[in-house]
Amino acid sequence: RPLVVMNAVSKTFSSGTLALSDMSLTVNGGEFVSLLGPSGCGKSTALRIIAGLGDVTKGTIDWPSSRINSRGLPEGDISFVFQEPTLMPWQTVFGNVYLPLKLRGISKAAARDDIMEALTTVGLKDFAEAYPRELSGGMKMRVSIARALVTKPKLLLMDEPFAALDEITRQKLNDDVLRLWKETGITVIFVTHSVFESAYLSSRIVVMKARPGRVHADFPLKTSLERD
Ligand code: ADP
Ligand code: ADP
Repeated sequence: RPLVVMNAVSKTFSSGTLALSDMSLTVNGGEFVSLLGPSGCGKSTALRIIAGLGDVTKGTIDWPSSRINSRGLPEGDISFVFQEPTLMPWQTVFGNVYLPLKLRGISKAAARDDIMEALTTVGLKDFAEAYPRELSGGMKMRVSIARALVTKPKLLLMDEPFAALDEITRQKLNDDVLRLWKETGITVIFVTHSVFESAYLSSRIVVMKARPGRVHADFPLKTSLERD
């Protein structure tokens, strides 16, 4: 079933840059889609638009199977993971993962189980009381993923999340995200410029090209988990 549909979306920035031109894309529930393409082809712009972090110039974003809130977004259903983990240094790991629930007015006591479940999913349940400065880059990224998962989103958007990490850490996190996708049935859209990463992770690769940004090729495949 279609979860999100980009209908002939164009995006022109105030600078005059045409970042996306008539881009159409349907992502179905349960897919792991990599948005692959060279730097500047509009991957981040497409992801941000899906997340509601920027208006479209032309076209529409539709959520055929979700209840829509007043901001035109599906109710509580999207989480975003950026390349920078952007943790609050003065808060513990627990406090950082609590934030999205706190913003929804949920008390710490009521949030505790969900926070610990998210931390367990990323292998950090023993680090709830640690501070970000005590963690490695890979662990900080895991906290950031736990924070994204704590609201139990239907859709997880990741914008080159592991690009700044070393190769081994990156590979471990790729395996974790894949396992997470398999176990939870979450839909993932994963922006990358790595052909290897997209081939390793995705159940579908959507290749974009630049000038103007749009879908160039779109093909299904088996994730490395399913190939085993
Ligand atoms: P990618 O994620 O594929 O590297 P982006 O979506 O970041 O590509 O950028 C697509 C194009 O839009 C590029 O030419 C970029 O310079 C331009 N662009 C991105 N964000 C902005 C912005 N806020 N203002 C103006 N131009 C932008
Ligand atoms: P990650 O494994 O999160 O990608 P690193 O490989 O950089 O991060 O790990 C840095 C240090 O932190 C290593 O000594 C590793 O053993 C330790 N570490 C990472 N994750 C955990 C964990 N879940 N439990 C215990 N120690 C961990």
